[in-house]
This record gives sequence, C-alpha cells and structure tokens, in this order.
Amino acid sequence: MMARTKYIFITGGVVSSLGKGIAAASIGALLESRGLSISMLKLDPYINVDPGTMSPFQHGEVFVTNDGTETDLDLGHYERFVRFEASRLNNFTAGIVYESVIKNERKGKYLGGTVQVIPHITDEIKRRIKLGAQGCDVAIVEIGGTIGDIESQPFVEAIRQMSLDMPNHTTFVHLTLVPFINASGELKTKPTQHSVKELRSLGIGPDCLICRSETELPKDEKKKIALFCSVDIGSVISMHDVDTVYSIPLLLHQQKVDKIILKHLNLKTKPPVLNDWKKVVNAKLNPKTTVEVAMVGKYTELKDSYKSLNEALDHAGIKNKAKVNITFVEAEQITKKNVKNKLSFCDAILVPGGFGSRGVEGMIIACEYARLNAKPYFGICLGMQIALIEFARNVLNLSDANSTEFNPKTNHPVVALITEWQDASGKKEIRNEKSDLGGTMRLGGQLCILDKKSKSYKMYKKTSIVERHRHRYEVNPTYRDSFDQKGMSIVGTSEDGKLIEMIEVKKHPWFLGCQFHPEFTSNPRDGHPIFNSFISSTIKQKK
Ligand code: GLN
Repeated sequence: MMARTKYIFITGGVVSSLGKGIAAASIGALLESRGLSISMLKLDPYINVDPGTMSPFQHGEVFVTNDGTETDLDLGHYERFVRFEASRLNNFTAGIVYESVIKNERKGKYLGGTVQVIPHITDEIKRRIKLGAQGCDVAIVEIGGTIGDIESQPFVEAIRQMSLDMPNHTTFVHLTLVPFINASGELKTKPTQHSVKELRSLGIGPDCLICRSETELPKDEKKKIALFCSVDIGSVISMHDVDTVYSIPLLLHQQKVDKIILKHLNLKTKPPVLNDWKKVVNAKLNPKTTVEVAMVGKYTELKDSYKSLNEALDHAGIKNKAKVNITFVEAEQITKKNVKNKLSFCDAILVPGGFGSRGVEGMIIACEYARLNAKPYFGICLGMQIALIEFARNVLNLSDANSTEFNPKTNHPVVALITEWQDASGKKEIRNEKSDLGGTMRLGGQLCILDKKSKSYKMYKKTSIVERHRHRYEVNPTYRDSFDQKGMSIVGTSEDGKLIEMIEVKKHPWFLGCQFHPEFTSNPRDGHPIFNSFISSTIKQKK
C-alpha cells in the first residue's frame, strides 16, 4: 500500500513579502534531494476567483502553468526549485472556495442545512488541499498573507483541523521577521513572539520558526525566541539575507531544517544530494564574464511583473558562468534619432511580452537596430510580433504593416486575431470587424514542431517541444512565404502547421522570436535551451 501523503504547512507572520514562497520552495528542494516526491500548493486568501485579472503592479507577474492556468508567481518559485509541474490544482483562492460552496448550496447539496464557514468552507479548503497533494510523498502548503488577517482565518482553521485528522502526518513551519532597529542597534524578537502568540490563539503551535533578518541571527536571539515561543532552540532557524536565493536550500540544510521536518513527519529518507545546488550557487557567485542585456519594454511593468524572465536570464548566466546585467529601457522613449545612444551600451536586446500599443513603435526601432547591427535579438511573444512587423515594414517594404492590436485598420496585418486572418479554407485573409479583445487567450503548454535545419533545433536537440503561451494575437500565415524568401525563416509551427511559433533571421548571429514564453520553464539547474544559447552567443559576440 502506498504511504499516505504528509503535509508541511507554511504560514507567515509580522509582515508580508518575507519570502515565504522561497522558503517553501527551498524546503521542497531539500526534501526532493532526499528522494521524496513533492507537490507544492499556494493558498491565496483573497476573494478574486483567480489571479489572472489582478494588476501586475499589485501582485507581480501572472505565472502560467502547463495546463494553462494563470496563477500566483509563487508557483514560479516552486517550479524553479522543485522538479514538479504545477497545475490548476496547486493554487486556489478564497474566491473559488466560496464560489464552489455557494454553487453547491444552490444545487441543494447541503440538504437544507445552514451553510457556514466551519465546516462548509473549511471542508472545501481541505478537499482542495488533498486534491493538489494527491499521489506525492510530501505536500508543502503555503498559506498566503499574514497570520491575524481576517481573510486567512478559514484557511488556518482548515489546516489546524488537518493536523487533528492526521496525527504524525503534518507539521507547521512559521516564517517571521526579526528586524534590526538602527537607533538602538538591536535585533528585536518581540514581533516574532507576538506572531507566534497569534498563531497559538488560532490553535496552531509551530514546530519550526524560520526567522528573516538582515544578518545571521545570533545564538542569544535564537534562545530568547525559543524560550518565549516554546519552540526547541534547534528549530529556530536563521534565514538572513544572502547573495542569491538559490543558496537558501543550502542555508536551511546547514541548520538541519530538513531533519527537523522529517522528524515531525515521522519520515525516514536517504541522505540529501545537494551537489546540483552547490554548483548553481558556485556558478552564480563566481562569474567569469559580464554581459549587458537591454530589456526594451514598459517601465511601469517592472520588477516582479517580469519575475520569471529575470530569473531565466539569470539561469542562463549561471549555465554560462556569466553575470547577466539587465537594464530596463523604456520603449516609449526610443526614437530613430536616439536609438544608438540608448542601446549601444548593451551586448544584446530582448523585447519581452506585453499588451497594448504603448511603446510599440520604440520596440520596433530597437528591433531594427538589433537586426542591422548584428546584436543578438530575442523577442518573446510580443517581442516576436514586433520582429515580424519590423521586418515587414523595412525588408518587405510593407510600410504600414502592423498587428491589428495596435492598428486595426492596417493594410498589412502581419499579426492579427485568428478570426481576422483565416477563412474557412484556412488560406485567404479575411477581416472580421466584429472580433474584439474579448476573444480568448491561447494559454498554457502547446506542442511546437521545429525545422531540423534551424538554430532552434540545435538548441533544443529535438523536433517536438512543449512551451507555454499567453496571448491573443497570432502571426498571419498569409505572409509566410514573403518572410521566408527575404530571410526571416519560420522555424517552428503548431502541430498542424497553421500557427507560427518561432522565427529566425538567417543572416544574423542570433535573432530569434518565439510566440510562447520560454521563461516559464527555465530553472537554475538546467537553464533553458533558448536562454542558454542567447547568453552564450552574446558572450561570443562580445569578444
Ligand atoms: N499582446 C500580444 C497578444 O496578445 C502579445 C501578448 C504577450 O506578449 N504575452 O498576442
């Protein structure tokens, strides 16, 4: 009989943004290195049904899973640290929990009973946790928000009940902040004490406390926290600031976090194999060279909204023993006149995904600059569409070529909604004035077939690849032959050959566009074939 799944519940205290996702993912990496199969879940106590509609300014990037779910960016951390593939079962919100309970109530499933937070909402939370954990040895469940938040109470109650339902199968890890107060020159443990008090008042005693601090937590502070919080001193862990997040699994291992957790879960495993992580950290901290990548996009969508992309470039740096400096260049400010000035500093240019017309003309100019000056160019999703528009305008001489997203009246819609470029036979271009942004997005992992003669094939070393999409517009195949004849090759298509997924410019050291988002499948241990090649070619070009 297969052993029952064990659960690690991770809560956070004091303030948000302490790196709970990274802590959870690092614990996942440690347990995986001991041969356990892991599932990771993120529970979001807000009322939105899913994070797809939430502003990236508030919430960071929307991470896309292979099954096409738009999820919280923490799932990106999980997939970067642990070799598991997240799906729609790995992230759920209070909104969806309430929605299902209310739907059930309308269907009369509760037999006329009063529908309440306990047990109906908590039961639904427990059901979903178990669903996301199915089949793995250990499920790591991160509760979003901070202990004490009104929204998270049903979630905390649900995990408390799970610990009663399954003795020896659950453990609680609590992440807190130990701030340094400059004025007095002291580390303060009081916020941690209060947070643990709050957690205990909800019926949960933490088995392990991970303390975030700027510098390493001294023994005395650990002792104090252990005493006031009734936690074993060995289970008070210092998670201080480090040079790279990828050293956190090692930092936690040094303090025996994996052992502590296994003890609470009553689990025995083989010893951990952490060579991969040591190699990653070593390469990250000892780069042999530096490359400058200009990311031409929209300034306001900075930082966490390009999280996976920044990480993927970093991973390629790790693979190539290079430090990748990323400079955000505001596309709106690029003009034909100043483009050289703005971009001559960089070794390579990347245009990331994006929506809406702001900044598009600047991106087109940046792309032309890369094409004409033999600078490596990497266009992702919108960045590939930009490359096609640029090539159509400047090489095919279709001066008003555009995407119908930016100019619905263009005479040459080289990028358009499918309804705008396809007729029944799939050949002739037709314009459908009625189609609008309400169209559905192409989301999630899809098969792409590569041309064996392409550089992309050399990168992947296989003809069938699966990569994740998140876009509405598609390359209009009506123009395919014209692009091909003039040197922009279509090197990847959907299985039926109809959708254009990858392009390369033949006479260029490295010029590639992909309709999908390869950044979602990059991880620090392997990097990603396209990003690895992009950075390695940039290093060579630079020499
Ligand atoms: N706006 C473009 C589209 O919807 C590109 C989207 C993206 O880059 N993710 O097709």
